[in-house]
Amino acid sequence: LEEQLRQSQKMEAVGQLTGGLAHDFNNLLTGVIGSLDLLEARLGTDGRSMELDRYLMAARGSAERAAALTHRLLAFSRRQTLDPRPTRPDALAAGMEELVRRTVGPAIELQLRHEAESWTTLCDPNQLESALLNLCINARDAMPAGGRLVIATANRRLDGRAARLLDLAPGCYVMLEVADTGEGMPREVSARAFDPFFTTKPIGKGTGLGLSMVYGFARQSGGRAVINSQPGQGTTVSLYLPRHLGAEDAPEEEMPAGEPDPA
Ligand code: ADP
Repeated sequence: LEEQLRQSQKMEAVGQLTGGLAHDFNNLLTGVIGSLDLLEARLGTDGRSMELDRYLMAARGSAERAAALTHRLLAFSRRQTLDPRPTRPDALAAGMEELVRRTVGPAIELQLRHEAESWTTLCDPNQLESALLNLCINARDAMPAGGRLVIATANRRLDGRAARLLDLAPGCYVMLEVADTGEGMPREVSARAFDPFFTTKPIGKGTGLGLSMVYGFARQSGGRAVINSQPGQGTTVSLYLPRHLGAEDAPEEEMPAGEPDPA
């Protein structure tokens, strides 16, 4: 619980800091781009040297890239705005099969495994899509020489003990797993992999925001994300999302008897 608290406090602090900084930067960049517009207008087109043109274009290019980055950061700090809908993770994954195939490329064998028709969960389907895509991109990056990527869904009833191990309330969950046969993570990496801005990838390749978004999304949907990774063998990231019973569903079945909960 302490770990979870630490993580969510960190997410909150980083979210606020990022949001504040991104907002200020955005204002500054609006000033820079506005001044470049004025400068360009004042210089006109005739009297302009090639050299001056190059400088202006370079300045504008950098300012625009900075503005795009700022917008990504703003979106990250505002990720709280979710639009939850009844969603079936197996159907959502099936609908993304082509996109995932194209994203990971032909060197990676993609398998979709659905144990049974999956239960419905209440979550923002767009966020679930981007979480799934993030996990597939990480899997691809971990398998530069190719390998196997499995997207699996299953329905799980967690009794007191199983739920406690996952830091969840006992009950029914839809599990969505992304497993790769890639390089895996050493303990120091998997311990920090959910931290915002933690990345082992070179600058320009990784932002370190992918897994922290996945984690935040799962938590905000009442569930949990867990990493299982073996260096040299591969990584599995599992999302547990609580089952949602709509008006059309039968009333909740009995929970399995399981162990009496001593806590
Ligand atoms: P990014 O991918 O931008 O680095 P993430 O938050 O998605 O940010 O991941 C953080 C780090 O966790 C990665 O830099 C990498 O070291 C590690 N990681 C994530 N997914 C995997 C994976 N499937 N296999 C091996 N390492 C991974």
